[in-house]
Amino acid sequence: MPPKLSFVSRIRWLLLAVALPGALSAADLQIAHVTIVSPERVSPMRDAFVRVHDGRIVAIARASDATAQSSTDTIAIDGSGLFLAPGLIDSHVHLGGIPGMTPEQEAQHPDIAKAARDQIPRSYLLYGVTTLIDLISTPQELARWKSHDLVPDTYFCGGAALMDGYAMNYAPKPQRYQWWPYMLIEPGTQAPDGIDPAVHTPQAVVSRMKADGAICVKTFFERGFGGVRDLPVPKLETIREVVKVAHAAGMPVLMHANSDEAQRFGLDAGVDIMAHGLWNWSQEHSTTSEVTPGIKRILDDELAQNVGWQPTMQVLYGLRDLFSTSFLSDPRLSRVLPSNLIDWYRSPEGQWFRVALAQEVKFPADANPSQLERLFNERFAAVIDRGEHATAYVVARHGRILFGTDTPSAPTYANPPGLNGWLEMHRLIDAGETPAQIFRSATLTNAQALKLDRDIGTVQVGKRANLLLLRQDPTQTIDAYAGISKVILNGRVLDLSELAANTAH
Ligand SMILES: [Zn+2]
Repeated sequence: MPPKLSFVSRIRWLLLAVALPGALSAADLQIAHVTIVSPERVSPMRDAFVRVHDGRIVAIARASDATAQSSTDTIAIDGSGLFLAPGLIDSHVHLGGIPGMTPEQEAQHPDIAKAARDQIPRSYLLYGVTTLIDLISTPQELARWKSHDLVPDTYFCGGAALMDGYAMNYAPKPQRYQWWPYMLIEPGTQAPDGIDPAVHTPQAVVSRMKADGAICVKTFFERGFGGVRDLPVPKLETIREVVKVAHAAGMPVLMHANSDEAQRFGLDAGVDIMAHGLWNWSQEHSTTSEVTPGIKRILDDELAQNVGWQPTMQVLYGLRDLFSTSFLSDPRLSRVLPSNLIDWYRSPEGQWFRVALAQEVKFPADANPSQLERLFNERFAAVIDRGEHATAYVVARHGRILFGTDTPSAPTYANPPGLNGWLEMHRLIDAGETPAQIFRSATLTNAQALKLDRDIGTVQVGKRANLLLLRQDPTQTIDAYAGISKVILNGRVLDLSELAANTAH
C-alpha cells in the first residue's frame, strides 16, 4: 500500500480489497540494482532495474540505463545484493480442508479452524509459492479458499474420478455424488438415483469443468491401498476419451498413478502428467529397490513421450512422519501453523489418523511411541527407496520433472503447508536433482505444463509480478527459499513478518 494514503482512502482501499479480492492492483513498484535469475536466461542479469505497474512487469533494463520514476505512489526497493526470481508454482495441492482435520472436527473447533484457514495461504507464500494448482476442486471450494486477504494465485483441475472409485470412495454415500460433480459413469454402469449418466460422460464432464473455470483435468488409476484394495478402475477407452476431449478444450490431463500398472495405463491413455512418482512396484519380489528392467521400461517410455512427472516424495514421508516422536516439536512448524492447531494435533483427538494407520497395519497395541517410530521407519524404507530410485532415474535422464508436493496427500499433519514444499526440495536433492533443476521445474516447466506461461514462470516484461527477492541464488542452493527477503504477489510487496504464523499480522 502506498505510504501516504489518508485514513479515508485507506478505508476505501480496504473496502475495495474486500469487494474485489485479487482484482486490485498494488502501487507501482521499482527494484533497482538487483540480479535477475530466471529460467529462460543462460546467465543472471546483474545490476538490473525492474518496474512493475498494475501488478505486471512493464520494464526491465540495466540499472545504469534506467530512469527511475519517483512519485508518491511508487514503492522503490534497493535490490543491491539480492536476487529477483519468479515466484514458485506448486502444481499439486489440495486446499479444501485443514491438514489432519476432518470436517466434523473442524466444526467442533471453529477457533482453531479459523486461525488455520487464515494462516495456510500465507504459509505457502512464506516459502515462496505464489501460484497453486488444486488438483481436485470446484468453483465453490475455490471461492472459499480465495476469500482470505493474502492468498497465492490459485487455479484448479476438476477431479474426474470413476463413480465409486478412488478417491471418491472416501466420501459417504450418497453425498459423494454431489461432492464429486465431475465423476465419470461408464456405459453399462447403474447410475445412482437421481443422477443422469448423460451428464457424466467424458465429453459432458470435461465441458462442465471448463465452463466452471478449471484449467486441467485430474483422473485416477488406483485399486486401493491399506484396508481398501478392490476399487473399480476406469477402462482405457474412457480415459482415452477424457484425454481427447480435454485436449480439444486446451486442458492438460493429470493422472493419479504411483504403481507400474497405473503409470503404464496412463501412458497407454496418453495423459500429460503423472501426478506421482513411481513407488509401488508389483513385479518386485526381492527387497531390492534398484530400478528393475520392468520399471525401467515404463520410465523409458515416459521419457520418450516426455510425460510430465511429479515425484511427490513427501506423500510417503507425510505418512511415516506421523510416527516421528519429534515432528510436532520442529520449530519450523510454528512458522506455518497456528499454535492452537499444533496443540490440537498433540491431543488424542488430533492423533486420530495416526491411530487409524497403526491399527490398519496391526502393530502391537502396547508399542510405545519410539517403538512405533522405528516400526514405521522400517515399514516405509523400501517404498521410499523405490520412489527415490525411480525419481533419480528420471532426473538423471532429464525427464520433464514438475514440482508438485501433494500437500496434504492424506489427512496427515506431516504435510504442513509451505514447509512441505521445502521438505520436498530436500527429497529431490537426495534423488539427484540440482537446485537449478528444482528452480526450473517449480517455475517455467510448471507454467508451461499448465499452460500458464503467458502469465507466470519467468521474470520478463508482460508477466505478472509474482516474484521473490532472495538473499541467495536459487539456481545454486535451495537454501535461497529459506532466506527470502520479500515475496511480491501481483505487485504487492509482502514482508515475511506478515506471512509467518504466530506473529501479530
Ligand atoms: Zn493429490
